[in-house]
Amino acid sequence: MVSMKLIMLGAPGSGKGTQARFIMEEHNIPQISTGDLLRSAVKNGTEIGLKAKEFMNTGKLVPDDIVLQLLKERLNQKDCKNGFIIDGYPRNLTQAQDLKKITNIDLVINIEVDYILLIERITGRRTCKKCGAIFHIKYSPPKEYGMCDKCSGHLYQRTDDTEETVKQRINTYEIETKPLIEFYKQQKILETLISDGSISEMKQKVSTLLAEKFHL
Ligand code: AMP
Repeated sequence: MVSMKLIMLGAPGSGKGTQARFIMEEHNIPQISTGDLLRSAVKNGTEIGLKAKEFMNTGKLVPDDIVLQLLKERLNQKDCKNGFIIDGYPRNLTQAQDLKKITNIDLVINIEVDYILLIERITGRRTCKKCGAIFHIKYSPPKEYGMCDKCSGHLYQRTDDTEETVKQRINTYEIETKPLIEFYKQQKILETLISDGSISEMKQKVSTLLAEKFHL
């Protein structure tokens, strides 16, 4: 089995979570979303969750040491042995350097999307409370209103998916995360894909890229 250690890079709403989930299903490697890990900590009221909540609700980055601790614990689990796909980390240069110290990365997939589309994509997004599947009220609506196609869980709108917070999150991305494109370009492990079509068209582009890179 080929080992794939991947990072999905992109602005909020670029579809990186959706594509990461496809990769997980197709290649049997875990998707590790630091956003999901943090949301679960908030939901469970853990110490980390209590510290993270305010940052998340205002669209700011949670402090690096907190996220690193969560990520390290997750990467140490057995299912990450043959690879993983990290979505939502690193979000700044310090995090990229931290990550370099704990694992090597084979490929960074950078998804680029037109700015105007981002806001529409995020504010229309609905997430399953139970399994985390992602839907969109216009672009990929569930078969039944408010209900997950996969597990019948309840769909909800993330508290940080409102227009005001979205703008702040995009701003955070522009200032803190975007420099990572150059960081990974210099390491020659970055590939950029433009997302200007449907979700399934993007899925095809990602599959083709992985087949090329990993000789599948
Ligand atoms: P996401 O689900 O990736 O959009 O993340 C939602 C929110 O969680 C972000 O707006 C941040 O507040 C926080 N977050 C997720 N990943 C990170 C990270 N790597 N570093 C700092 N904060 C993060």
